Amino acid sequence: MEDFLWFKEISKTFATTRAVDNVSLAIQRGEIFSILGPSGCGKTTLLRMLAGFEAPDSGRIILDNSDITDLPPNMRKVNTVFQNYALFPHMTVRENIAFGLKVAKRPKAEIRDEVDRMLTLIQMQDHADKKPAQISGGQKQRTAIARALILKPSVLLLDEPLAALDLKLRQRMLLELSLIHDEVGITFIYVTHDQGEAMSISDRIAVMNNGRVEQIGTPAEIYEAPKSSFVAAFIGDTNFFDGRISDVVDAEYCRIDVPGLPRMLCFNDKKLAKGDLVHLSIRPEKFQIALEQPAANPKYNVLPGVVEDVIYQGDHTRYWVSIGDDWRISISRQHTRFMLDEKPIQWRDQVFISWFADDGFMLER
Ligand code: ATP
Repeated sequence: MEDFLWFKEISKTFATTRAVDNVSLAIQRGEIFSILGPSGCGKTTLLRMLAGFEAPDSGRIILDNSDITDLPPNMRKVNTVFQNYALFPHMTVRENIAFGLKVAKRPKAEIRDEVDRMLTLIQMQDHADKKPAQISGGQKQRTAIARALILKPSVLLLDEPLAALDLKLRQRMLLELSLIHDEVGITFIYVTHDQGEAMSISDRIAVMNNGRVEQIGTPAEIYEAPKSSFVAAFIGDTNFFDGRISDVVDAEYCRIDVPGLPRMLCFNDKKLAKGDLVHLSIRPEKFQIALEQPAANPKYNVLPGVVEDVIYQGDHTRYWVSIGDDWRISISRQHTRFMLDEKPIQWRDQVFISWFADDGFMLER
């Protein structure tokens, strides 16, 4: 796929707040690209600059080989679906969807055909004559999407589009959004602070923090190989360990001294040397937990510990295991049928936790 939309070294400051700080992004034609980060990290400002509602202090925005940085919003082939949908309450669903084409003074027959096509796409044929107050949250959402798509934008911007919906409806709308995306084939840019939403809908994600992009990658790359502590902690849960390389075993592995823990074996993906400081992340589901000591395996680390807390969460259980006086490690264990025959692990049990040396991730500090 080709790069289609470029943010080139974009910055924007409001008074003393640097909302967007030298952001460069290359987005491909037809992908669902999410901008993910906590409140205030600059996501909306970046989106508003792309839509033309805000001008960058420096940097350029290139869309389909044209520099659109100085174009007014109505001259950009970019449309936005806002969090509150912004539907006209006195107009029917059909009139709301037709609005953009009406303003553009397109022929009546063309407007009718295009609106019918959109109503079919969002499966709202039976609700075309209702007003926004007479339809559900999900239906309002779909109407807002159709109203934005009818102008045939090259890029659809979705700013926290599901924030107003309840959990079940959010899950359904995520699926519907990907189906609509497959149908229309244009680029979607999806802004959210919800990592679950971003993980399930995106081809790629840019994780933002404090106006900067911390990492860009597929959902799996970002989850499995976070580059910074911020990304590791923001996307899912993790355990952090600070230590120092005690020795380099071979081209792939090293051993690490972490104060308060026995020496551990770790995949040395950063090719660190003896004496270097290490900041390590190990996700809770990468640990195994057992009442019996597991069979020895040179690639596995095993530590004895005591269960401090057990939290049943339906599909998995979360265990907090203390190791010595200084460490509490979070472990999550997916439930399987086989576990029904096992003696359950309980509060105060002596356990063994183990993990594969490749499952620790060295992070930039
Ligand atoms: P949220 O998820 O809460 O919407 P966000 O990641 O979209 O947050 P932005 O709305 O882009 O963040 O805001 C980034 C920073 O810029 C924040 O500190 C915000 O207070 C500030 N900011 C945004 N717009 C303005 C403005 N018009 N005037 C002053 N400060 C602003």
